[in-house]
Amino acid sequence: MATTTLIRNADWIIAFDPARNGHRYLRNQDVAFAGDSIAFIGPDYAGQADRTIDGRQLMVMPGLLDLHLHAYMEMHGKGFFEDLASKHMWMTQLFEYTWVLQEDAESAVAATQASVCDLLRSGCTTMAELYCSGLPYEGWVEMLGRTGIRTYVCPMVQSGHWGTPNGRDHVYTWHEAKGIQNLARSLELIDEAMRHSSGRLHGMVGAAQADTCTPELFGKCKQAAEDRGIPLQTHAAQSVMEFREMIRRHRKTPIEWLAEIGVLGPRTLLGHAINIDQHPWVNHHERKDLDRLAETGTTVVHCPRAFAQWGDMMRSLGGYRAAGVNMALGTDCYPHDMVEEMRIAGLMSKVASGHVDLLRTEHVFEIATLGAAKALGRDDLGRISVGAKADIVLVDLAHPSMRPVRDPLRSLVYSGVSGAVRDVFVNGEQMVKDRKVLTMDQDDVLDRLEAGQKRALDRVPTMDWAKRTADEISPLSLPQ
Ligand SMILES: [Zn+2]
Repeated sequence: MATTTLIRNADWIIAFDPARNGHRYLRNQDVAFAGDSIAFIGPDYAGQADRTIDGRQLMVMPGLLDLHLHAYMEMHGKGFFEDLASKHMWMTQLFEYTWVLQEDAESAVAATQASVCDLLRSGCTTMAELYCSGLPYEGWVEMLGRTGIRTYVCPMVQSGHWGTPNGRDHVYTWHEAKGIQNLARSLELIDEAMRHSSGRLHGMVGAAQADTCTPELFGKCKQAAEDRGIPLQTHAAQSVMEFREMIRRHRKTPIEWLAEIGVLGPRTLLGHAINIDQHPWVNHHERKDLDRLAETGTTVVHCPRAFAQWGDMMRSLGGYRAAGVNMALGTDCYPHDMVEEMRIAGLMSKVASGHVDLLRTEHVFEIATLGAAKALGRDDLGRISVGAKADIVLVDLAHPSMRPVRDPLRSLVYSGVSGAVRDVFVNGEQMVKDRKVLTMDQDDVLDRLEAGQKRALDRVPTMDWAKRTADEISPLSLPQ
């Protein structure tokens, strides 16, 4: 029989209200979950419980969803990329340096585990892991299954890739047959995940980028996703360079081209979609991309922190939402802290729109929960609701960053830190207890990641077009 956990008399619960198809607060009530699902929400639970948690001074909230990250590779760049500008490739998101830090198989495992530790500890219970450096290493799916987080595995395929031979030109190298060939293997990995015994692994078809996949590869990816009833994700409108390239190739914006070849739709997620036709940097004469996204029901996965680091921002998250575009959040690079990501999303939207309340706290939270669940076609994620998956986060309202507690969600989004997240359950299993990840030894993971980062930094001259060292490309912030 399934184990029942009771959270008794929680100060605050962010519960799903079907009448308004959104969240609402409940005060001083109970939440019980049995096995992997929520069984009860309300006052005075009278049933049996195997374990009881005192809910006083706690907020019970649904686990957050991070639908766009590259856990296996980006953490290696911590301390290297933050201030790195490319002199001749401005507005390109550092394409000159994108590939200079290459993880090895061993450190890819450590980076993935380190990313998941950060996510879990910030109240995230679902991630979409986008692998886009060829096919993943042996044992990838199993390793993801052991981390404890709910994962949409997304091995991305592509018909070509970009690089630079000189730090100025943005050059595509095409290998179309290999893209089709890799799709077969990536679908095997997705099917392996969907069969996984943990019940926490799911599949997402991945076509790497709008500018690196042929219509044929996109068509096969879309068909494979539809056959399995699973989502598809690609990167699109993520740089000025890509936007200009698609205008040059097709006389169409990236979003317009994706709409035309049939990629957009309610089960399609676009990573970023920041440099769309209305973005001032692309200097385009039409304003139709937002309507294209809204009319097709396409989801945009917004990763504000990564773009802020590159000096760019969505114009604006509140504006996209108001136009009817379904939105989700992602952490993309690092840190993988969903509390911080929500705050940056809210603040950047205020800056970009010039409005204080076009995007309010409840909207940011809705995007990080219900918007993401909608993109996945899941009505059992991102909500505290009877029958929903027991992906539950307990926030410590006594944490200094949360006090004084007038409105705990506002405290969390605008003042809170991930240290306020005390306990995390995924599929009813406890993965974080008193701020400690139970599935991994985080210190050991970080030791292995640090060793891997050193190896990757040592290899930089072999990956850079000008054969520079890591310190030549990115000197330390202070002299030593
Ligand atoms: Zn990405």
